[in-house]
Parts: sequence; C-alpha cells; structure tokens
Amino acid sequence: MFNKVLIANRGEIALRILRACKELGIETVAVHSTADADAMHVRLADESVCIGPPAARASYLNIHEILAACEITGADAIHPGYGFLSENAKFAEILEAHDITFIGPSAEHIRIMGDKIEAKKTAKRLGIPVVPGSEGAVTDAAEAKKVAAEIGYPVLIKAASGGGGRGMKVANSDADVAEALHTARSEAGAAFGDDAVYIEKYLSTPRHIEIQVMGDGKGGGIHLWERDCSLQRRHQKVWEEAVSPALNEAQRKKIGNICAKAIQGMGYSGAGTVEFLYEDGEFYFIEMNTRLQVEHPVTEMITRIDLVNEQLHVASGSGMSVKQKDVQLSGHAIECRINAEHPSTFVPSPGTIQYYHPPGGLGVRVDSGVYQGYSIPPHYDSLIGKLIVHGRTRVECLMRLRRALDEFVVDGIETTLPLFRDLVSNQDMQDGNYDIHWLENYLADK
Ligand code: ADP
Repeated sequence: MFNKVLIANRGEIALRILRACKELGIETVAVHSTADADAMHVRLADESVCIGPPAARASYLNIHEILAACEITGADAIHPGYGFLSENAKFAEILEAHDITFIGPSAEHIRIMGDKIEAKKTAKRLGIPVVPGSEGAVTDAAEAKKVAAEIGYPVLIKAASGGGGRGMKVANSDADVAEALHTARSEAGAAFGDDAVYIEKYLSTPRHIEIQVMGDGKGGGIHLWERDCSLQRRHQKVWEEAVSPALNEAQRKKIGNICAKAIQGMGYSGAGTVEFLYEDGEFYFIEMNTRLQVEHPVTEMITRIDLVNEQLHVASGSGMSVKQKDVQLSGHAIECRINAEHPSTFVPSPGTIQYYHPPGGLGVRVDSGVYQGYSIPPHYDSLIGKLIVHGRTRVECLMRLRRALDEFVVDGIETTLPLFRDLVSNQDMQDGNYDIHWLENYLADK
C-alpha cells in the first residue's frame, strides 16, 4: 500500500478521499489555492501545500505545481477526485514518467473514453448496446441527412470531445440538419478545441441509468449495480438513487454483467461508470467516465463497499478486496446535491455560512467540506455537500430523506435545500415516475 497520497482536489471529494486514506493508515497531502487556505481538506490533511492563486487554471489544474508539491512532500501517488485533472490522459502519462502512481485507469483508457466517437466504437466492440447513429464523425449536411434517414428523426448532433451537455443540438427534420450541424460544430470547437461531431437517434423520454464498475487492470472486473440519475437540470445531475426504480432484478443483472464483461475485456483498472439512456426496456450507451463520480456514495450505501478504498487497493497493486458474489444489494439510497444556489433561479450564492447544522441519525450520511463560519469562495462549482440517505426500502428511504432535509440548516447563503423539500413530497418522485426531462418541466410549471 502507499505511504503517502496527494489529493489533487478540493471540497467534499478531497475530504472523502482523505478519510479512506486515513482508515488505511496512509498519510495525506492536501493541495490548495490561496482561496482555500481555510478549507476543511487542508485542516484535516497531514500536510498541505499552496499551489497557486484562486483560478483553477493556475492551481488545481496546474500540473507543474502539483508535481512540485508531490516532490516536496514525497507522496508516492495522486488521487485526482472528479473534475479538474481526473480525466486528463496527459496528466496520467506525466505522473507515470515521474514514477508517481495515478490513482485511476491507464492514460490509454482515459483517452479512448474521452473521445466519444472512439468510446462508442469500443463499447460496441465489447458488446455494450449503443444509441443508433453515425459510425464516426460527420462533417457535411448531406452525410448527416443520410444517417438521419437511416435512424429516423429526431436526431441529436453531439460533440466528440463533449462534456457537461455542451455542443449538443437536436434536428427534427432535413430542414434543420444543416444549421444544427453548423451550430454544434462551432460550439464544440469553441468549448473543446475540437469541432468533431457525430449523430445519434434522439431519445424523447429516456431515463439516465449508469453502472458502477471496478477493474483490477489484469482482466478481472466487477459491476456494483446501477444508479438512476434521471433527475437533471441542464444535463447536470441533481438527485441520484440506487437502485433504479425502473428496473427489475433480471434487467439489473443483465446490464450489470454486460458491463463487467466489457471492462474485463478492456483490462480496465480502477473505478469507472458506464452511462446509458434507458427507454422502453432498452439500454443505450452514451459514455464511460473513467473516474470516481460525485454520486458514488449511493452505490456505497447499498453495497457497503468503500469505493475509494478499492481504488487505493487496485492502484497500489494489491487488487480488489471483493469479488462479484460479494457485491450484495441491500435496501435503497438517495443522494441530493446541495448547491450554494438560489433554489428556483439557481443563481450561485457564495458567501459566509452563519449557522450550520447537518442532519444525523440512522441511515444518514453527509459528505461535505463546509462548516459554520466557512466562506464559500466564488471561484469553483457551487456544490457544498451531498446528503445521502439509506433505507431498507425506497419508501423508508424517502421517509428518512424528508426527516433529514427538515433537520438540515445552512444559514447565511442560499442553498438548493428547499427544492429537495418540495421534490421529496412530490407524487411522481414518490412513485419513481420521472425521466431526464421531468425536473425541467416541473421547474417551468412552478
Ligand atoms: P456530456 O458528456 O456532455 O454530459 P452525455 O453524452 O453524457 O454528454 O449526455 C448528457 C445528457 O444529454 C444525457 O444525460 C441526456 O440527458 C442527454 N442526451 C445525450 N444523448 C442523448 C440522446 N441520444 N437522446 C436524448 N438525450 C440525450
């Protein structure tokens, strides 16, 4: 096992990783920007290094400074968390060249999955069902119309290097195609420096269901069931649950096994998520994330497996501590992403937390880096914590969630807590009856 791990991240995920390291007796190094000098991950780490000014580009994305921090502290591995450098193949390569372990998959696997066209080809080859669409990149309108004629309208034009839902355009007929293609390409070029786009069948009322996987890098691999992340706003997940209210046991096992086999076939190492849209009983691959996800705790709650602990084991070469048969399902879990934002306008609300009281009790977990008196800096994303609740059944989980939301107090800033208090009492949410458009329709009608 490692002696010392540097955590190249901030906020709740830096704390999450730090906790797993501490339990394994691994020393921790926090890195931080000048804006985060008072952050909890800095306070709890064994050592900390300031790596630059507030802008992420100059600090959390500054490979040179992070490497220097590693050198100074003698850390033997880096955990990138999510976001920032977590899916940067170049960073993984640079660490390898410096004999520092990147806690994540190989640079090659990051690169393949970072290019959605390559990712889709790879998924298809490995037996994963994909959304019908173009075989590769599409550059002109005539070609786009030909693909659309085969798969039928509406179609979605998507950026190969896309992320966060950017560079996506729907075309409803031949008349729309040229303009949608042009707009998607220029948006993609501006956002990602790569204007390659491809075409997919647009699914009108799908759910977003993703499978957690873990590979040992030697051909061994397991799945840890699914998460339903259909509740989204602007393609950003808001509420996640495990298991999905839409699947039965046979469907769950079938798609889980397909994903486990695929990562065995790849020789994948570490944690990953295979994301699907699910409509009319069919799964359609959209992408694979080669990192730990924000919503990983719901999987931990229903399997009682510590995913960060497993990542550390795999990266250090000691392999996974669990086999597929050990991954038993127990109960139901829901996560609410608490953002420092106005609950109906979603305008960010940085500032000082005057009073903070997180909920507790059986089945309640709060993953957060904030505390009373903490000032949320305006430079980063607005996630301030995650409330994760477990129950023996979905009904018990919802009852507990309502109680925990009532207890949760964050004063001094606006948060999205009131939105969740509304959602937990909504009939569709109680019935598990929602797709990826449900939340936006609900907010528009409010
Ligand atoms: P990104 O990496 O930008 O997040 P994804 O491919 O993961 O892109 O898609 C993000 C979201 O966009 C999905 O969760 C879904 O809401 C929507 N989406 C993607 N592909 C399709 C599709 N073929 N049909 C309908 N909606 C889609």
